[in-house]
Amino acid sequence: MSSTVDVRVTISDLSNGAAWMGGRLMPISEAALPVTDWGLIHSDITYDVVPVLDGAFFRLPHYLARFRRSMDELRLDPGLSDEEMEDALQSLVAATGLRKAYVAMVTSRGVNQVPGSRDPRDCKNQFFAWCVPYVHVIRPEIAERGAHVHIAKTVHRISPGSVNPKVKNYHWGDFTKGLFEAKDHGAETVILLDDDGNVTEGPGFNVFAVKGRTLVTAESGVLEGISRQTVLDIAAEQGLEIEIRALALSEFFESDEVFITTSGGGVAPVTRVDDRIFSNDAPGPITTALHKAYFEWAARPDNRTEISYRD
Ligand SMILES: *Cc1c(COP(=O)(O)O)cnc(C)c1O
Repeated sequence: MSSTVDVRVTISDLSNGAAWMGGRLMPISEAALPVTDWGLIHSDITYDVVPVLDGAFFRLPHYLARFRRSMDELRLDPGLSDEEMEDALQSLVAATGLRKAYVAMVTSRGVNQVPGSRDPRDCKNQFFAWCVPYVHVIRPEIAERGAHVHIAKTVHRISPGSVNPKVKNYHWGDFTKGLFEAKDHGAETVILLDDDGNVTEGPGFNVFAVKGRTLVTAESGVLEGISRQTVLDIAAEQGLEIEIRALALSEFFESDEVFITTSGGGVAPVTRVDDRIFSNDAPGPITTALHKAYFEWAARPDNRTEISYRD
C-alpha cells in the first residue's frame, strides 16, 4: 500500500509585494476586490503612489495631502485619519523589507450595501494599500540614453471638464489607446494632447520642455505630479526660469531638451518625439542636472520619512 501526502506550501514571503486590507497584511497575490466593487465596475476610485527610496518615503506629506484632496473631491471616506493611513503604509512596507518600492494607497467606492440601489451614498468605501519592488515608468536602460516618445494621433487626453485630471484616477482608456499606438510605432511611451493641441501628460508622468534656461510645463489638464513639483522646487533653487502655461505642440517641437517627471524614476530624458530628435539624441545638460538633483533631494533628511523596519 502506498499513500500520498498533499503538501501545500504557504508562501509567507512578502518581499515580492504585500497588501494592507482592512488592517490585515497579505501577499500581493492574495489581495483582491469583490467583483461588484464600484471601483471596478465604474472606475469610482482614487489612488496615489509614493516612492520608497533607500529605506524612506520621499516627501510623504505631499502624497498624503494630494490623496486626501482627491478623496474629498470624489466624496470618498477612507475611514482613517492621515496618521492612521501613514501607520498602515509604514507597517506594509516594513513587512516587505523593501528598501526601494512602489507604494500605492487606494480608496474605492466599494460595494453597495443596499441591493439594487444606484445611490453612491449606499456604498461602503474601502481603503487599501499595496507595495511592490520599485517600478520604473521608463526602463532604466532606456532612460539612460533617452526615451523615444510618440504623440498620440487617434486619441486626446480626456477633457478636464469630464474627468478631473488633478484627481489621480483609473480612467486610463485614453492612455491605454495611446500606449498601443506608441508601441505600434516602436516608441517607449506616449504623450497626449488636449482638444486644443496642447501638450498634456502621459501614462503616469508629467512633461517638461527646456528652452535655454527656461522650463515650461502645462498649467492645466494634468495631474499636479509631486515629482513635477520637486523639479519646480529644484529649478527655483538652481535659478532656472519656470513657465507654467499652455504648451502648444509646435512650440514643444522647438525645445532644446524634453524630459518627463514621475515617482517611478524621477526625471527621465526624452531624446525623440515622433521624428524630432532633441539634444543630438542624448540626454541634455539641464535634464541630466535635474535627474541628479532629484536623487540628491531624496537623500535630504527633511524630505525623508524613515521606515521602521523590523530587522
Ligand atoms: C501619477 C501621475 C503623474 C505623475 O505624478 P507623480 O506624483 O510625479 O508621480 C502624472 N500624470 C498622471 C496621469 C499620473 O497618474
